[in-house]
Amino acid sequence: LSNRLQNVFGKLKGKGKVSENDVKEAMREVRLALLEADVNFKVVKDFINKVKEKAIGQEVMKSFTPGMVIIDIVNKELTSLMGETHSKLNKSNKPPTVIMMAGLQGAGKTTTTGKLAKYLQKQNHKPLLIAADIYRPAAIKQLQILGEQIDTPVFSLGDKANPVEIAKQGLQQAKENHNDYVIIDTAGRLHIDEDLMNELKDIKETVKPDEVLLVVDSMTGQDAVNVAESFNQQLELTGVVLTKLDGDTRGGAALSVKAVTGKPIKFAAMGEKIDALEPFYPDRMASRILGMGDMLSLIEKAQTNIDEEKAKEMERKMRKAEFTFEDFLEQMEQVRNMGPLDQIMDMMPGMGKMKNMKNLNVDEKQLGRVEAIVRSMTTEEKRKPEILNASRRKRIALGSGTSVKDVNRLLKQFEDMKKMMKQFSTMMGGQGKKGKKP
Ligand code: GDP
Ligand code: MG
Repeated sequence: LSNRLQNVFGKLKGKGKVSENDVKEAMREVRLALLEADVNFKVVKDFINKVKEKAIGQEVMKSFTPGMVIIDIVNKELTSLMGETHSKLNKSNKPPTVIMMAGLQGAGKTTTTGKLAKYLQKQNHKPLLIAADIYRPAAIKQLQILGEQIDTPVFSLGDKANPVEIAKQGLQQAKENHNDYVIIDTAGRLHIDEDLMNELKDIKETVKPDEVLLVVDSMTGQDAVNVAESFNQQLELTGVVLTKLDGDTRGGAALSVKAVTGKPIKFAAMGEKIDALEPFYPDRMASRILGMGDMLSLIEKAQTNIDEEKAKEMERKMRKAEFTFEDFLEQMEQVRNMGPLDQIMDMMPGMGKMKNMKNLNVDEKQLGRVEAIVRSMTTEEKRKPEILNASRRKRIALGSGTSVKDVNRLLKQFEDMKKMMKQFSTMMGGQGKKGKKP
């Protein structure tokens, strides 16, 4: 999913201007990517409609950076699809807080029970684990081994006792031993069946859990959503744990589960190790799905830090090659506000190309020197660099703590840059050259 989306956005990002058709095309591809990732078709339809609506509302086409605006909208919608904000574990006013795990066989219930205990332990809680899976061979042993590993007690009555009775007595023991959390590991089946559901309902009735967490294998795609839907109908879940996100998962489960069941994903498991469990953050998952990591926060930064009006004015000047050292300085300041230069250059429409061109060095240290030189110029000099004769250049070098050679080099670069901008504006259609508005 990530790769596909990245391609779509890669195309958009490279463009200075995006037409309505480009947007439509991008949305078609996003739609296909989501369907291929096994996202529920109803969810996809809603999603695309929402993005389109927002894209039109925000007048993407008139924006200076339409590609970024669209990526931003998609990112926000992905986040909201998965629940907007992180959803915490419920907590009982009267300890212990009871957490009941449910899910199909092999989803990761027992493993997650251990991980959750470790997670709670780290926050200074004292969990008790209850082994209520009497069917799967060695399920009790598996939980006991996990318990030993993290020094957490495991309550069991062996595999001959009734699971409801086990849960009830386990809870009693937790109260006596002042455990503030109880996690009940239950049995699963390969498929949903009535016996299993009845047993789980009975346990739920008896212990009245504060959390009923469905453990879902994220590798099972569309199936995961069906499973989640029926568990939710029968058991009224309070949340979901997505497991095996470390694998080659297509991400579809994460995207549809919340949308279909309305129940938040509370944790994500990313490996077999005992500490491979993390609270689930919709925004981080959205970034992961978009495959751009920090790129997205950069986009946001860019949007808040670059003044749109100024950017447009700058673009106009660049097209006309009216660009002066004053503009140069102003642009540098705007870019500075955003952070690491290389990444930002990549993000700016057209700039990615410029970065690779000769004579345009984006070394940060070099930039500091450049800035100092420009600041040592008088206003007139900034506006009309052609008046910079030898004595003026010498004065500037002294004032900026650089050498005449540095000053000369910058002036040469500036001339090159202006030439390049002229070429660039021709490349982009050259509308500005004759003073016509597109
Ligand atoms: P249960 O039947 O629901 O109790 O499932 P288990 O806890 O026994 O897990 C089934 C298998 O999935 C085991 O081999 C686990 O090691 C593995 N597993 C569980 N969670 C994860 C995970 O997040 N990542 C990976 N890679 N494997 C997991
Ligand atoms: Mg198990």
